[in-house]
Amino acid sequence: MTFKELNLIAPILEALEAEGYTQPTPVQEESIPIVLQGKDLLGCAQTGTGKTAAFAVPILQLLSKPPVDNSHKTIKALILTPTRELAIQIGDSFAAYGKHLRLKHLVIFGGVPQGAQVKALHAGIDILVATPGRLLDLIDQKYISLKDLQIFVLDEADRMLDMGFIHDVKKTIARLPVKRQTLFFSATMPPEIQKLADTILTKPEKVEVTPVSSTAEKIDQHILYVDKKDKKKLLAFILKDKSIERALVFTRTKHGADKVVKDLYKDGVRAEAIHGNKSQNARQRALNNFKTGEIRVLVATDIAARGIDIDLLSHVINFDLPEVPETYVHRIGRTGRAGAAGIAFSFCDEEEKDNLKAIQKLIGKQIPVVEGHPFPPSDSGLVKINLPKNKQVVKRPDAVHSGNAANKKRFNKSRPPKKW
Ligand code: AMP
Repeated sequence: MTFKELNLIAPILEALEAEGYTQPTPVQEESIPIVLQGKDLLGCAQTGTGKTAAFAVPILQLLSKPPVDNSHKTIKALILTPTRELAIQIGDSFAAYGKHLRLKHLVIFGGVPQGAQVKALHAGIDILVATPGRLLDLIDQKYISLKDLQIFVLDEADRMLDMGFIHDVKKTIARLPVKRQTLFFSATMPPEIQKLADTILTKPEKVEVTPVSSTAEKIDQHILYVDKKDKKKLLAFILKDKSIERALVFTRTKHGADKVVKDLYKDGVRAEAIHGNKSQNARQRALNNFKTGEIRVLVATDIAARGIDIDLLSHVINFDLPEVPETYVHRIGRTGRAGAAGIAFSFCDEEEKDNLKAIQKLIGKQIPVVEGHPFPPSDSGLVKINLPKNKQVVKRPDAVHSGNAANKKRFNKSRPPKKW
């Protein structure tokens, strides 16, 4: 299947080609025709499947149909998304796919002064990408009117619920015209989200891709058992391998993320953290440094990382194992995108073994364990022998030698064997 076969107009086909997209992803192949027909859509798809283009492309095409309104005076499409990062990425997508069209879009989110956003609204826009709080604020202040809205997209509905935005979402929906086209996207469908979908969609067509329990097969997953206190040493050791081009490290807490960055610095590895306590500017700067390759390592919490759109992310490292097994799938899904291969390492200490069990139950398979790394857990049957500096060796009681240097050498392979 090609984009041309989806009956897309020339200016959009040209823009997609410039993005380097050769063929539609499954969610795009199924969703684009449905949206172009003006139907409501219920899309079960997570970030990384190409879902942004699945709605942005047909919206651009629908809004560029004659008679074209060049006044930009009314907002015709609204995309509601939970985080600023996602909002920015969606805005970037509209800019990229719509670069040969005369439609105007704007991205608004909280945590920054509203002046520039209000000015852009006054100038007139066709497509608005927004996070819920700032949108409601600006509606209340009468800077935004949605009375002429034609298309409404609710993006990452389950995340809206997780982040406590569901009330704001419902308030927004209450202000939309009843007659409209609605596109609803969610990675999972918990009962409350299903209920919301049932109330706001009219005879929707359903598109479902990569259910959360089926971890992308192309991702090489590995478990490394390690004592909690040794995790930072193991992380620095792994990251010193320069064949790891771009790694996203996940920690459970914001404090944990900062601590990992500090410890890595001490070990000579440059890294930056992104999480909710950082200013919008600091987060954007860290993300840009990571995207341009200025830094190879980004440390993030789950919420901050949600929706980070980075092509060519070679590795995901779970410094902590998440308590919610679905989160593991979301995390490792950051790598191996758009057909690329990816590698995920997960550290597991004694207290996290139950989390690992739950993850393996969800994905329906055992994750291969990396043995023989230089920091085996104290209960592993491997004995660490303290020798003078840099000469520490790890011995199995059965006298099979696996010295530190040998382990390090073997570790340098970007695709590790099950045994190091
Ligand atoms: P999304 O699920 O929308 O976050 O998209 C995930 C990534 O896939 C983004 O980096 C997009 O730029 C990329 N992408 C989307 N559609 C395609 C496509 N048809 N071919 C190649 N890459 C794509």
